[in-house]
Amino acid sequence: SELSDLFGPLSKAEPATRTVPVLVPMPAPGPYSYGVPAGMAVVPGSIVQVPLGPRKVIGVVWDGEDGGKVEASKLRPIEKLFDCPPLDEAMRRFIDWVAAYTLSPPGLVARMALRTPAAFDPEPMIEGLRVSGHEPDKLTPARQKVLALAGDGLSWTKSGLAHAAGVSSSVIDGLVKQGVFETVFLPPPPLVAKPDPDYAAHRLAGPQEDAAEVIVDDIKAGGFSVSLIDGVTGSGKTEVYFEAIAETLKQGRQVLILLPEIALTTAFLERFQDRFGAKPGEWHSDLATRTREKVWRQTATGDIRVVAGARSALFLPFEDLGLIIVDEEHDPAFKQEDRVFYNARDMAVVRAHIAKIPVVLVSATPSVESQVNSYSGRYKRIHLPTRFADAAMPDLHLIDMRRHPPEKGGFLSPLMLRAMAKTLEKKEQSLLFLNRRGYAPLTLCRVCGHRFQCPQCSSWLVEHRFRGQIQCHQCGYNEPTPQACPECGTLDHLVACGPGVERIAEEVEKHFPEARTLVLSSDMGGVKRLRLELEAIAKGEADIIIGTQLVAKGHNFPLMTLVGIVDADIGLANGDPRAAERTFQLLSQVTGRAGRTGLKSHGLLQTYQPQHPVMMAIVSGDASAFYEREITERERAVLPPYGRLVSMIVSADNRIDAETHARQLRMAAPSVTGIAILGPAEAPLALIRGRHRFRLLIHGRKTSDMQAFVRTMLERGPKPVRSIQVQVDVDPQSF
Ligand code: ADP
Ligand code: ZN
Repeated sequence: SELSDLFGPLSKAEPATRTVPVLVPMPAPGPYSYGVPAGMAVVPGSIVQVPLGPRKVIGVVWDGEDGGKVEASKLRPIEKLFDCPPLDEAMRRFIDWVAAYTLSPPGLVARMALRTPAAFDPEPMIEGLRVSGHEPDKLTPARQKVLALAGDGLSWTKSGLAHAAGVSSSVIDGLVKQGVFETVFLPPPPLVAKPDPDYAAHRLAGPQEDAAEVIVDDIKAGGFSVSLIDGVTGSGKTEVYFEAIAETLKQGRQVLILLPEIALTTAFLERFQDRFGAKPGEWHSDLATRTREKVWRQTATGDIRVVAGARSALFLPFEDLGLIIVDEEHDPAFKQEDRVFYNARDMAVVRAHIAKIPVVLVSATPSVESQVNSYSGRYKRIHLPTRFADAAMPDLHLIDMRRHPPEKGGFLSPLMLRAMAKTLEKKEQSLLFLNRRGYAPLTLCRVCGHRFQCPQCSSWLVEHRFRGQIQCHQCGYNEPTPQACPECGTLDHLVACGPGVERIAEEVEKHFPEARTLVLSSDMGGVKRLRLELEAIAKGEADIIIGTQLVAKGHNFPLMTLVGIVDADIGLANGDPRAAERTFQLLSQVTGRAGRTGLKSHGLLQTYQPQHPVMMAIVSGDASAFYEREITERERAVLPPYGRLVSMIVSADNRIDAETHARQLRMAAPSVTGIAILGPAEAPLALIRGRHRFRLLIHGRKTSDMQAFVRTMLERGPKPVRSIQVQVDVDPQSF
């Protein structure tokens, strides 16, 4: 700077065509080269607009030397550099890591971290007022009030000032006319106010305090750490991680809370507001595009301090992320099975590692993977074995359906009906849980046996009697429920086989005509309607609720004292090695809805397999027995987390193409000790939306380099032609 004082500014000459690599949101193997126009100051992470074929797309300037492989004449320049913070180093390394791990094109991963151009438009300024120093011609009491407030020199909006002074806006108009106020332009207010760590801290109970201390110490120490809060429903886990959030806010850093089904958990947002005096920023797919763009931008600028979001919130570009919470960490909703197949729980650990910050996993029923890591000490184990304030867990019993069968045509055991009657008498709520939408899972003709199958999927059409439709739960195909069998033409001989929630509602209404019955299932309306219904239940506006897994998650229903599981065996039948874990988690979560406010509560599970280890573990309340058994089983079979799995689904419009391609991929596989390929076999859903699906399941050891193996298969194998598609799923949910 001293030299420039003496000799004037002297900048280095830019090479005529400096080029940089830019990741574009496309399934390309890597970044493309673009020219940097003179005077445009791009750095790695800069968000830019570039031409791509005939289109303009958003991209990110990537790291590394650009090869400059493009001929100067073909090189296209960056068109625009957006006015927003560049994606920081940690975010860029995270995107690279996710791409490499999930075997996805980096551009598709980067796309999850970017928004459309509208997000970058500066938000319009709003008009405000500031005192100019001119005196008003006469000082009425109303004017006096206004000037007393505005005299501090701060800027006000007109309506804000009128409201605060308790005067009509004409008073202010008068002052503006006289030049007492001058007009200024103000940035729009942030979407959500700043949360205050000290707003309404609860006193923690002893075990909670110990738990919070472990995490708060980690936050104070700084750096990467993983803790697993494993505590029964109602043990006060949320309060514990609220302390961790408070500590992070005190350090001036941002927080991300990942929650499954955030769109339905208004209660969570309110609870957060009660504790911190402001709502968190919300992030999920049900937000309006405009709002999403604002949340994205204000997370990047740091105006939003805490985001509560669905899995994709993991790719928000935080200005200074200091803590990640993954609540209900076991939940399958954290797995995205579309384009980039990733598990947000696992990738949250990766993001925390790269950003060198703590991550806290939270669950009443942790995944076997996380439980293994906590038992081994790789994750800090924080255990809360009892409910807060000694609220009792529900009393759980199995109903052996072989000994207490329902009456003919029904699905509810007399024992279940009796418990419901008692609950109704006490003016408390019952929940019947059945994870099956619609009236009946299968409809057939009594005369010829015809079954209604989806024309484009290998699944049966499900009757939805409320709507008078039969529907496919895979692709949404639907048609009016026919009167006559399309096969034999017989009228009115269609029979419903097995129960769905609508059919259970019918049975309940027959037995309890005076009760207020409510069916809650995701096909019964949009998010708004579901939110209202959940609130109505919490307020006690329904007596008997019949619900699918929507009701299992996180809700707090103060009057609910009976939870009945209509078919506890449903998830165990499908032969998936993860079936026991899933069933254990789902049944524990659902029964955990009961008795959260201290009322005596019960859970009844209808089962034909009362001796099954999952059933025994649930009623005994001995979760550790279940985990130990399950972990031993996984270890013996070298299944995750003791082994690794990758699923490859090959799909095509015709069956032969799909199967042939899958076979050729298998033949292209290298031979590696410890890695074996199963299949190709028809995928669990062999036909979806008219596409035939074959699956290769690749099984390796914990130490196997699965990604290198799959990359080799894809490189050596045939290129997908015609309608053929290959989807790679590292760590599949079901196997
Ligand atoms: P979990 O997240 O484990 O299901 P919660 O944090 O929701 O448990 O706590 C269960 C109930 O107990 C909630 O109603 C919560 O408000 C209350 N609670 C938990 N901890 C405290 C505390 N320290 N002070 C007051 N209320 C608490
Ligand atoms: Zn279908």
